Amino acid sequence: MNVELVAHTPDPDRLCAQAALISKWPNPWSEFRTFWNDKTDLAHLTDALEKGHVSVIEHASFTFSLEGISRACSHQLVRHRLASYTQQSQRYVTLESSSFVAPPSIRAHPDAAERFSTSMHENFRFYRNLLDMGISEEDARFILPNATRTNILVTMNARELLHFFALRCCERTQWELRDVAWKMLSLAKGKAPLIFSKGGPSCVQSGYCPEKDLTCGKTKEMKEKAAAL
Ligand SMILES: Cc1cc2nc3c(=O)[nH]c(=O)nc-3n(C[C@H](O)[C@H](O)[C@H](O)COP(=O)(O)OP(=O)(O)OC[C@H]3O[C@@H](n4cnc5c(N)ncnc54)[C@H](O)[C@@H]3O)c2cc1C
Repeated sequence: MNVELVAHTPDPDRLCAQAALISKWPNPWSEFRTFWNDKTDLAHLTDALEKGHVSVIEHASFTFSLEGISRACSHQLVRHRLASYTQQSQRYVTLESSSFVAPPSIRAHPDAAERFSTSMHENFRFYRNLLDMGISEEDARFILPNATRTNILVTMNARELLHFFALRCCERTQWELRDVAWKMLSLAKGKAPLIFSKGGPSCVQSGYCPEKDLTCGKTKEMKEKAAAL
């Protein structure tokens, strides 16, 4: 799996701080630059975020390329509706027999790993057979499993990203999407350290675990992991 930040709003912290300031400033945007002071004005963003005025961070957006994730993972990703997606088509692209993801738990179990690999190759062989029989890609793909690899481009604004991280950096999330989410957080935080200063699972963002009896009980570790990014 490979996660890349392919594009983002330039200087996202500064833009969102200016957005926070515009609500309080008597002068128009065009006059901002003469008053702008990095040190003091970034504090307006912190202030807005602390007060819950989070719409200001909707002005910053981030586009990620997720390569080689499973369809099981991408299916969960696209449940996040306040985002834009473009996914590799299984109608236009003929898949190779090695195009699948093997979960670490299966790879670590020799017997399971061997039978999993055999089953995957059998699936892909039959997929090829169907194509050879003249069945179209869009119908032959019905034999393909959740493990099938895919590539997807996703764009989210910073507000949606924080919500996504709250849910998907959580230990309760499936391992693959969780790995993706932590990588996305690390990349986004590198470009917008202020916006994502509290980024991480719900327990990191709010100090509260909404999973109740299903909590992993690792709030301290999660806070340390997020702080280390
Ligand atoms: C650990 C875990 C387990 C899960 N298990 C399941 C499962 O078993 N079955 C299942 O189906 N799903 C499951 N999900 C997916 C989950 O139910 C959500 O669909 C997914 O996390 C997207 O979250 P969302 O709707 O908050 O976010 P987004 O779609 O990213 O939306 C962000 C926010 O915008 C607002 N919003 C967006 N659309 C609407 C709307 N139409 N109406 C009102 N407000 C809106 C909401 O405030 C929402 O929180 C699971 C998710 C997690 C993290």
